[in-house]
Amino acid sequence: MRDHRGMESEKDELRDAHGRSISDLRVSVTDRCNFRCQYCMPADGLPWLERGEVLSFEEIERLVGLFVGLGIEDVRLTGGEPLVRRDFPRLVSMLSAIPGLCDLSLTTNGYLLERDAGAIVAAGVDRVNVSIDSLARDRFFQITRRDALPQVMRGLEAIAAHERIRPIKVNAVAMRDFTEREVGAFVELARTSDYQVRFIEFMPLDADHAWTPESVLTGAEIRALIERTHELAELPREPSATARVYRFTDGAGEIGFINPVSEPFCGDCNRLRLTAEGKLRTCLFSVHETDLRDPLRSGASDAELEEIVRDAVWRKELKHRVNEPGFRPPARSMSAIGG
Ligand code: SAM
Ligand code: SF4
Repeated sequence: MRDHRGMESEKDELRDAHGRSISDLRVSVTDRCNFRCQYCMPADGLPWLERGEVLSFEEIERLVGLFVGLGIEDVRLTGGEPLVRRDFPRLVSMLSAIPGLCDLSLTTNGYLLERDAGAIVAAGVDRVNVSIDSLARDRFFQITRRDALPQVMRGLEAIAAHERIRPIKVNAVAMRDFTEREVGAFVELARTSDYQVRFIEFMPLDADHAWTPESVLTGAEIRALIERTHELAELPREPSATARVYRFTDGAGEIGFINPVSEPFCGDCNRLRLTAEGKLRTCLFSVHETDLRDPLRSGASDAELEEIVRDAVWRKELKHRVNEPGFRPPARSMSAIGG
């Protein structure tokens, strides 16, 4: 097999062996979280990383700068819950100052957004996604194991007060025998606000290993539920976009579907992930990962780190195998990967 050195003529582009150009990086800033969502973490949490194991802000800044130099344009900060990392807005300001970084975004459960919205906007965040699985307080509690819906909705309003931060996306994980009852309220939210509501299919990345193929409520099933009462028309999308977005044809609102299980989009995947302790993952479902922290801490030059990254990216997985017999979920669950 040719290695990435065979691509001299396209040296600056970060490419894998399947010809995909990589331009999107998800950075997990902590493995810790203040929620315990059923589809992600166990009720008792997970063994957290020691402080010294987690990349410092300066280490994240150096790696993100290196990735941007290699053609990464979009960086999303995630976790765990990013806002529980102490002094998080300072990290946002360090990263937003990196020349060449086009889009710096955040995925959060929203619990601390009321406190932090002003600081992260001032620090230069471009876009924010808020995860909300139910708009009913008791059912929100059932999923997240925290009675926190009013606090999260205040956080959503606090970020929406900043008109520069658009679009604001509200993401709901779709699970069979739960989300069917949520669809009506989310449609109402999408039609009466400028939030873009998106349903994400439940993936086998839950620490409790409760996922089964039957537990996935597919995007097509939810769309059919909505189309009983509303006509939808699909909007054009970029090939690398994960969501299929529809508008309500009577004019009000948009609704999206991220269908990684029923309609995998691996062929157009342009994403990498960096875990809180500095492992590079080339797929959500990667079995292998590449350590960047040890080389970083033992004095590797930018050229040496670049070589490690290019080698890892070259070997990016062709596709996930969730729908194949014998599929085994990765050892890490979603909060430890950085969703
Ligand atoms: N704590 C933040 C939050 O919840 O938005 C950021 C990290 S969380 C791991 C990132 C996203 O992954 C959230 O939207 C969450 O709902 C989603 N997620 C977590 N576990 C999932 C699973 N098993 N299947 C699909 N999405 C999942
Ligand atoms: Fe925490 Fe986000 Fe996982 Fe929920 S989905 S437990 S908020 S990391």
